[in-house]
Amino acid sequence: MSDDFEQHPADTAWHRWAPIGQTLDASGVPDSGPAPSIAAFELRPLAPMLVPEKPRQGELDPAECGICRPSENTIWHDDEWQVASGFEGGVGLPFVGAVAPRRHVRLEDAPIEVLAGLGPVLQRLSEATKTIPAVARCHFSRWNDGSAHLHIWAYARPAGMMQGRGAILPFWEQCLPASPDEMAAENIETVARVLAAGGGTAFPHR
Ligand SMILES: [Zn+2]
Repeated sequence: MSDDFEQHPADTAWHRWAPIGQTLDASGVPDSGPAPSIAAFELRPLAPMLVPEKPRQGELDPAECGICRPSENTIWHDDEWQVASGFEGGVGLPFVGAVAPRRHVRLEDAPIEVLAGLGPVLQRLSEATKTIPAVARCHFSRWNDGSAHLHIWAYARPAGMMQGRGAILPFWEQCLPASPDEMAAENIETVARVLAAGGGTAFPHR
């Protein structure tokens, strides 16, 4: 991206209302659940919001899309869908993965036959993740701020981890140390094996 990418403050009724530059009171966050996750939580001042935003990976040129490239991190795929895991640096939760169509589509323009397959593949990934003995539930998140290619994150919530219920789980993931390689690989193997048992191929690029 060239340095002359020109941005200006977003100007909508919401943006004019937003307390840009102020530091917001986050004292209510620790009391938001039965098992508070956070003892102290301080936000940085609300930063200016500039538009237009810079394009996401693969937005302007699908040839630059990382999700489209064959990868050792692809733990399973079938004709339409793929699941990736085993990301660099490791993860602390028992399993973190990303499910994406094999075609380069955005949610906005995905054809109906792709969208119709999303429900079944989410169900299969959730069930596969829960076969890891440490896992109670599989949470899904769709942000799509980094890559334009439609993808949905899967986070395995450990059994009994009441502090990890709901939207706080990805924050815990960023704070936990990476689990041992052997344990992480075994969990990935478990998910891939269960997915492939229902159709498709485990580790297609290894
Ligand atoms: Zn792509």
